[in-house]
Amino acid sequence: MIVGIDLGTTNSLIGRIEKGRPRLVLGPDGKALVPSVVTFTPEGPIVGAPAKDNKSSSPKTTIYSAKRFIGRGKADIAEAMKHLPFDFSPSTDNSVRFQVCERSYTPVEISSLVLKELKRLAEKEFGEKVEKAVVTVPAYFDDSQRQATKLAGEIAGLEVMRIVNEPTAACLAYGLDKKAHGLLAVFDLGGGTFDISLLRVHEGVFEVLATNGDTQLGGDDLDLAVLQGLGFSPQTPEEKARHLVEAERAKRDLSEKESTELLGKPLTRAQFESFIAPVLARVEEPCRQCLQDAKIKPEQITDVILVGGSTRVPLVQRRVQEIFRREPICTLNPDEVVAMGAAVQANILDGQMTGMLLLDVIPLSIGIETMGGVVSRILHRNSTIPVSGVEHFSTYVDGQTNVDIHVVQGERELSKDNRSLARFQLKGLPPLPAGIPKLEVEFIIDANGILNVRAAELRTGKTASVTVNPSYGLTDQEVEKMLMDSFENADKDFSERFLIEAKTEAEGMLRATRKALSRGSELLSSEERMEIDSAVAALEGSLSSADYKVVKEKMEFLNQASQSFAEKLMNHSVQEALRGKDL
Ligand code: AMP
Repeated sequence: MIVGIDLGTTNSLIGRIEKGRPRLVLGPDGKALVPSVVTFTPEGPIVGAPAKDNKSSSPKTTIYSAKRFIGRGKADIAEAMKHLPFDFSPSTDNSVRFQVCERSYTPVEISSLVLKELKRLAEKEFGEKVEKAVVTVPAYFDDSQRQATKLAGEIAGLEVMRIVNEPTAACLAYGLDKKAHGLLAVFDLGGGTFDISLLRVHEGVFEVLATNGDTQLGGDDLDLAVLQGLGFSPQTPEEKARHLVEAERAKRDLSEKESTELLGKPLTRAQFESFIAPVLARVEEPCRQCLQDAKIKPEQITDVILVGGSTRVPLVQRRVQEIFRREPICTLNPDEVVAMGAAVQANILDGQMTGMLLLDVIPLSIGIETMGGVVSRILHRNSTIPVSGVEHFSTYVDGQTNVDIHVVQGERELSKDNRSLARFQLKGLPPLPAGIPKLEVEFIIDANGILNVRAAELRTGKTASVTVNPSYGLTDQEVEKMLMDSFENADKDFSERFLIEAKTEAEGMLRATRKALSRGSELLSSEERMEIDSAVAALEGSLSSADYKVVKEKMEFLNQASQSFAEKLMNHSVQEALRGKDL
């Protein structure tokens, strides 16, 4: 049996398909939602609803929203850390750890405790062992966040058969009832993350066309915005925790009612909407970008599906309607639809369900750094997975025996502006002249969206391989900023890239020319020699220029000046060869 799991920021769910229908496991309180909260007691950790009840009374020992931190580095989440009542351990490295009394826990460990509890509940409900699962993640999770999620599953004793993107899973759940067809937009706003995906669904094939999002935007931010809007600034951990719990309650009230009160102050829906409007404005750009990437106009979309608890907020629904110009559908419970879809995917993998095929995509491009810090992109964002790509390179210096390979993820032209995923070395190459070794780098993204890189030198068969295993991933602001920057700075990036490429090419040309001059200068008249020397000097001089066009122009000069020399050298070589001499 393979189960489907929605590991959420706020709540998690587990279920499977029975007689062709999803069946979600109900918690002790009779609800399918298990709060993704862990409270540490002297008797051990407690997970779920009882832990959630401890949020206000034991704020220092009750950990939640671990998903916001999974696969992240400290530098990425400084802002999110500030508003939470529990402590982060002062580790010297970049890893995020929650400090609970004497011990510290990583987000992976907290998530694994939540997964373990889900596994326990499912085993009790189904009366058999649960060892295999499909786990969902936000579509916009990067490689390290996916790897960290998979690891949490493994720690909980679950073999993670597949990582599926949440919006895609939601779409599968709708597909089960044959309700989904045509072009679908899935708008997923949960407790901590926002995803937008566009899919084409036709005869059981679910093809993701594009995806975008913000992994640091969700209902938690709405709670904070309300507290700040009303002028609350809690100081103690107890106060912080109580304020957040109350703000969340008031927010839910306002999904049904026109007014409520929060910590003794009256709060109307209109006020609430004015506080959260700036936060919700952040959904617009990812939606626009996603439509643009999929080359789809809002009018072409058949249906918009709502997913995630925060889509119950009336202003969220109005924004969705404005962006996509149609009323969104939410016939399936937005809290449960992702878990149902995970169960569908589990059933497909189990070989039980045929006639349905899922074609998902990667959210960000992957490439490697080449000479001068320029990125050679090997896999483009929104490529259907599994996918692999190969790129060929050579060495730059004579006798080079090691090559450093730097893998980056992002959309910018220069390596320094993207997220560094991993560095590894291809060692022990035979010392050959520059340009002779044939290096092949292959990037393989599996069906889980997880990256593997392999590199080999083809002449010698020397290989190196790495599983990309970074200590942290991209922050969403970074992802978003990187995407935005790549559009805003496109011109600047390109001219920087051209300059670096032109200089690299020019240096190679100068080296080749010097080498040729040292071998065959007797073939040249003094006039020809002078002309070449001055073109060489001009090209050398252009290397300090900031304009790639100047470098290109001087390269062309040298090219022309040395053309007849090149022909003479060639003829000379041919004659020598005909005479049987070794060149
Ligand atoms: P999810 O991650 O999909 O479980 O979504 C959880 C988020 O949805 C939390 O931020 C909740 O506060 C929010 N949420 C759940 N129900 C409602 C509701 N009725 N109105 C507004 N927000 C809600």
